[in-house]
Amino acid sequence: MVEVHLDCRDPQRHLLGVRLTLTPRFPQQRLQLPAWTPGSYLIRDYVRQLEGLEALQDGQRLPLRRLTPSSWQMHSNPQGGPITVRYRVMATELSVRTCHMDHQHAFLALAAVVLEVEGERWSPHRLQLQLPQGWKAFVPLPAHPEGGWRAADFDQLVDTPVEAGPHREQLFSVAGIPHRWVTWGGAPGADAWLLERFPQLIRDVEQVCLQCCRLMGVERPASDGYLFVLHLLDEGYGGLEHNDSTVLVYGRQRLEQPQGYRRLLQLVAHEYLHQWNVRRLRPAQLSPIDYQQPSVVPTLWFAEGITSYVDQLLPLAAGLSDAEALLQDLGDDLSRYRLTPGRQVQSLRSSSEEAWVKLYRADAYAADSQVSYYLKGAVVALCLDLQLRRDGACLPQVLQALWRSHGRWGRGYSETDLLTAFSAHSPALADLLPLWLEGLDDPDLDSYLCDVGLRLEAEMATAAFAGLTLTGPEGSLVAQRVWRCGPAETAGVMVGDEILALDGQRLRQLAQWPQALRSGVPQELLISRRSQLQTLVLHCEPPAVERYRLVSMDGVTAQQAATRERWLHLAPEPLC
Ligand SMILES: [Zn+2]
Repeated sequence: MVEVHLDCRDPQRHLLGVRLTLTPRFPQQRLQLPAWTPGSYLIRDYVRQLEGLEALQDGQRLPLRRLTPSSWQMHSNPQGGPITVRYRVMATELSVRTCHMDHQHAFLALAAVVLEVEGERWSPHRLQLQLPQGWKAFVPLPAHPEGGWRAADFDQLVDTPVEAGPHREQLFSVAGIPHRWVTWGGAPGADAWLLERFPQLIRDVEQVCLQCCRLMGVERPASDGYLFVLHLLDEGYGGLEHNDSTVLVYGRQRLEQPQGYRRLLQLVAHEYLHQWNVRRLRPAQLSPIDYQQPSVVPTLWFAEGITSYVDQLLPLAAGLSDAEALLQDLGDDLSRYRLTPGRQVQSLRSSSEEAWVKLYRADAYAADSQVSYYLKGAVVALCLDLQLRRDGACLPQVLQALWRSHGRWGRGYSETDLLTAFSAHSPALADLLPLWLEGLDDPDLDSYLCDVGLRLEAEMATAAFAGLTLTGPEGSLVAQRVWRCGPAETAGVMVGDEILALDGQRLRQLAQWPQALRSGVPQELLISRRSQLQTLVLHCEPPAVERYRLVSMDGVTAQQAATRERWLHLAPEPLC
């Protein structure tokens, strides 16, 4: 047993005191801090926040030799008394995967906090917390009989987000399993505001959770007790999945918009479904997890794309949304996909494999050089679902089969396992799915949408196409995105250039730009790059597609309407 003691009693200094107590096993033991946290595929070097490390045994300081930036060799006496390892962690970064403490709350992502002790990865860890007066901790771990909480091993411990503060929790159950919801609002009273503004929230969350269980074909959640932590900030959107919990971040301003509440329920569905898809039904490359190195996972499209696709359908299937809103959400995704030129550069499998260095480190050129495995993964998920329906099956059936064959037993899956499962339900997928994963051509979306009486309608922009997106900080116009091979790039514009004038007209406001563009005639563009003025010649193209909308076809047949109804409600096809 490793004892982990965290001292949060001085939150305004943002310094977390950490003390580990362990029994020595070998004369030399390695201590190492994870470099990343599962679910967020970026090397974060959490050791940046660690300071003051020391190890003590029988009143003596033990020699620590640094092996890498985040690991040490500790020399001790195996016959001696218990070892205490002490250090501090700076908790100043507010996100679902980092640590943050202030006078209002503490949020701890334990991968950024707890050193793994060599030989103890699979040993139980006991967690104890010291908190300011009036604070309570919300920890998704079973209680330890002698106080604190008990994690079966290091993996379960670092899969545990800790939220603490004077917050109140909401208790509910899903199929008899206890669930908790706690909101930290970033401002006093924000949790009360949320429940006053949306009194149905907890009831709706419960329905979404039940619908996730139905989707997976199970009677009850995979977890024995589940915690939702919501960070309700002014703005922000995202979440991080864990086995028995999730941490969500959501913007108050977004919540006030008409689609805001629906999107929150989709986020709940997304993270809750990860309890199965990616946490327990897990890619082989993450079984077990290497906390020091990036692992190349070619099937992240399945973990995130399938989840992103079904998270939109789940609130409708739970009776909490309507078909019109769903078609609008699906249409928005399809539009974003069709307007991402990077899909013709990076395949879906490459996008998954390159997550660590591309999606998580996207820059101003990303849209032209890469495609998100969330976005294309969701488009492929839609095509998979509709292809499966042509053969009398559906996507939920494949998810359930994979849960029975792999997830339930903790067997990591490979891409071949996925291909086998999909093609067992629709033989054509044995050829189609590899093409969608490796190829750069789009799946035949129009034909699949036709199966459910839908089509994508293009909306044209009114202004000529310059292939340039601008931002307008403080009255100056700056190139934010330059389309690859577009008119602006051909003219010589780069991201970061300041756009000063077009055809002799000084430009100061964003609204002036589209009005000034002319297609078919050369225009003189004055820019500033590194304070040097340059005159370029811009040849705009005619207006291009601005967005796509998902609309009903004319003359939808009874069969198309019936398939659409089943598809939207995640219902199986009737037996032939
Ligand atoms: Zn996800």
